[in-house]
Amino acid sequence: MPRKKSGKPAILSLILKNFATGPATIQYPFEPTPIEEDSRGRHYADLTKCIGCGLCKMECPADAIEMVPIPEGYEVPKVNRRKIYPVVNYFRCVYCYRCVAVCPVYAYVTTSEYRLASMKPSDSSELSISTLKKTGE
Ligand code: SF4
Ligand code: SF4
Repeated sequence: MPRKKSGKPAILSLILKNFATGPATIQYPFEPTPIEEDSRGRHYADLTKCIGCGLCKMECPADAIEMVPIPEGYEVPKVNRRKIYPVVNYFRCVYCYRCVAVCPVYAYVTTSEYRLASMKPSDSSELSISTLKKTGE
């Protein structure tokens, strides 16, 4: 049976190559992680489009969406007769974007934002409410 060749020269050239190219790791969070443009990140409903149908909540596999009343003091579109909207809990969400796909009026705004770690509860309410004008403005 022929003897295997020693792997030493191959390892040596690999070590030299890695010295020349620098580390493969990055200094996150000081350096941002490169991500695909269409990666699924934080999303929220644009309440100027949402009709409050609740379909996104029904279809969410992670039970991450709650339908809640729109607070007083905002101009709510007439089509949203029940004046409710979906709030996405970003800690429960699995970022499948099923909610985005089923929305009949394409109300979801999608982003690639993935840096969502927080000590406080994190959800889409603030972003969604910011899509509405205040009454009297
Ligand atoms: S992306 Fe998926 S898991 Fe997250 S809220 Fe939408 S349907 Fe639910
Ligand atoms: S499916 Fe679309 S229109 Fe219906 S509640 Fe969800 S965001 Fe609003």
